[in-house]
Amino acid sequence: MQKGNTKDLDNLCGVDPLVKIFLDLISFDTKSDPESKQVPSTVGQLRFGAYLLSCINDLGYKAKQDGNGVITLKIEASKGCESAKSLCLLAHMDTAPDCSGANIRPRLVKNYQGNGIELDNGLVLNDDICKELRNFTGDDIIITDGNTLLGADDKAGISCILHLLHNLKINDSIKHGPLTVVFSVDEEIGLSTTHLDVKAIDCDYGVTVDGTALGELDVATFNAYGAIVNIKGLSVHTAVAYKTMKNAISIANEFMAMLPSYETPETTQGDEGFFHVHNIEGSSSMCKLKMIIRDFTHPGMEKRLQLLTRISELLNEKYGKGTVSVKTTFQYANMGDVLKEHKDFLNLLRKSYKDAKVSVIENKVRGGTDGSNLSNQGLPTPNIFTGALNCHGPYECLPVGAFNKSYEVLKHIVMNMAKKSNKKEK
Ligand SMILES: [Zn+2]
Repeated sequence: MQKGNTKDLDNLCGVDPLVKIFLDLISFDTKSDPESKQVPSTVGQLRFGAYLLSCINDLGYKAKQDGNGVITLKIEASKGCESAKSLCLLAHMDTAPDCSGANIRPRLVKNYQGNGIELDNGLVLNDDICKELRNFTGDDIIITDGNTLLGADDKAGISCILHLLHNLKINDSIKHGPLTVVFSVDEEIGLSTTHLDVKAIDCDYGVTVDGTALGELDVATFNAYGAIVNIKGLSVHTAVAYKTMKNAISIANEFMAMLPSYETPETTQGDEGFFHVHNIEGSSSMCKLKMIIRDFTHPGMEKRLQLLTRISELLNEKYGKGTVSVKTTFQYANMGDVLKEHKDFLNLLRKSYKDAKVSVIENKVRGGTDGSNLSNQGLPTPNIFTGALNCHGPYECLPVGAFNKSYEVLKHIVMNMAKKSNKKEK
């Protein structure tokens, strides 16, 4: 089993500018906080944004940071590419609240041999933890010391975009159409797109650089609803409970028992949707269930919402009107329904993967991305890989070859877009 070290990482920094940028970025603690009432949810994101702003403007651009901490940069097209379709590149500044992102101490495993990696604190990263790891035998892999996440989600994405901004300045041969760069806040707590204005971004297409394994191209996401089920019981002394008491906990149990037991996150995969009760609180007199509902299709989602209504009706017939009430809330919609109307753009992305010598793996995300909301607000935005694996925890790692391929794909997308005239398309 191999261990990582910092000496090899320092050496790599000297020859790999993308890795150098990445290591600078992960020195900032930008963990978001779902309990916070501030925007952005943590001051670390503001500080990080200020740093990014100075990096970008030092390159000779004029980026802006708005009151919410979001960074936006508009770049004019290269000479001769003014009529190309406009493209927005997006990545998020925060890291997941699930794990510490402070004092990240990255290490490098050089030439991974395939037999697992022991992190400094004794945790073992191997094929059991991460199936994809075996694909990176022979590659160099950036790891944590086992006490924090790595921050590749999504500072690997930001690194690729910064590296591109640098290269656009020094290399005239990277032709590009009108570009917008957005670094968003609070993506990990589901709020990033609430602070973005698709009209102000004003682009034909978008790409988030926020995916995981090498080759992944996310072209669809779930449709998503949340639901809160309130159950009113009738609490009386147990001595006189016979045919009188309505135990809200028992009714909550009945409600859950009527949900299909084979349609939960742990029993579904691929195209299958689910119901997920993730929180239950209450007493015999009052109970509240919190759940999320996921489905790739609109008719499928409609059926799921109808089932919730039907179950509450049945229980209300049995226990009395007003016993059970269900409130559903729209969360996000499948971006695939929007993207399939933009076949030319998807073909351009496929070609860009090919140009970068990366085999494309088209993926339906069993979750949402910023692209779910952006696409449905009029900015078709698929998601490309960063190369990072096991995000949101101490096993997070970044195979260096895959990371560099993410940059290559991004560069080819920008170059191919430059050839895509605004006028020719429908
Ligand atoms: Zn992310």
